[in-house]
Amino acid sequence: MVFLDNASTTKMHHSLSELLLKYNEVEYFNAGALYKSSTKIANDISIARKKIISCLGGRLGDNFVFTSGATEANNLALAVAKRFRKGKILLSSGEHPSMYNTALELKNQGFDVDFVALNNTGNIDENDFRNKMSNDVCFVSIMHVSNETGAINNIQKLVKFAKNINKNVIFHCDGVQAYGKLDVNVTSLGVDMYTITAHKIHGPKGIGGLYVKSGLNLRPQVFGGGQENGLRSGTENVAGIIAFAEAVKLAKDNQKNNYEYITNLKNVLLDELNKLQYKPILVSDERCSPYVVSLLCKNLRGETLLHKLDDEGFMVGNGSACSTKKRGNRVLGESGYAENEIEGALRISFSECNTTKEIIDFVHAFDKVVKEYKEGTGR
Ligand code: PLP
Repeated sequence: MVFLDNASTTKMHHSLSELLLKYNEVEYFNAGALYKSSTKIANDISIARKKIISCLGGRLGDNFVFTSGATEANNLALAVAKRFRKGKILLSSGEHPSMYNTALELKNQGFDVDFVALNNTGNIDENDFRNKMSNDVCFVSIMHVSNETGAINNIQKLVKFAKNINKNVIFHCDGVQAYGKLDVNVTSLGVDMYTITAHKIHGPKGIGGLYVKSGLNLRPQVFGGGQENGLRSGTENVAGIIAFAEAVKLAKDNQKNNYEYITNLKNVLLDELNKLQYKPILVSDERCSPYVVSLLCKNLRGETLLHKLDDEGFMVGNGSACSTKKRGNRVLGESGYAENEIEGALRISFSECNTTKEIIDFVHAFDKVVKEYKEGTGR
């Protein structure tokens, strides 16, 4: 089977298995206990935290809070906004459901939440952002790279603009699809908080976290024994944390080479698709991350194509399931595509585990299933 759904998750680096085993079977002690073996574990967690902050480009005094993944980290970030009962919260319409639906929940609770429009690649409409970024906006969250289209938002520019309007505004960025793929540096981006998760960068599932700039006060969302300096209670996922930090380091070390390799894979995909008689609509143009390619097969059902491709040995995505009352894919809808285009959405997402041959074989399979589908349905 060929896995081309790497925006949903990635294969874990084999080298991390050893770490997981070590910290679950040999050094399995609770970091909160008082004997020497536990103190060592607490110290290992502290080293892992520093390693991640450093890879992210953070500074001395910055924090990184370990959570169960990016969904929880995004919830933790948005909880900061609850402090500002009267202020406005501004998000992009393209946010992942873990941010978008959490913001809708705040809206239901009476908070003033507004969304920035998207253009046809899934990038935020910067004019709309400038119009909506007023002095009473106290919290902004704009994702770095769209999980649906690969659209890259210019976070550095947006932070600068936002802080010029309101120097106290808190700026959060969901960097799940950016870290390890782009050259990320939270200090030069200027963000106050940045979310990442291990399983999108060949780490284990169930561990992620939130980078927090020095001086920012978080509101804990999980209460209990006071782990993570009281910011996220619960016995630490030690093995996950150690393996996560290693995955973060490997992703940083290999970022440049992988980016070149993946750009080549995307070019091969587009060149091969171009040779076909049937031309899907390409959402992800050259302004998007090469890791994610969103295609729309107008008047065909993406879900049917996905299952047919699965039968041919290729796993692809068709975007997040609908998360609002709207049918279909919310992000593609907000990007201005019609229902008969969105219904045909397929998302191909790469990792460095993929080969050129797999991409060429995929396009042959795509050609075959589209032809069969069209013949079968007369579309
Ligand atoms: N944010 C983005 C942009 C994502 O792509 C995902 C996963 O699909 C998440 C957040 C949620 O990540 P996790 O699975 O770690 O909760």
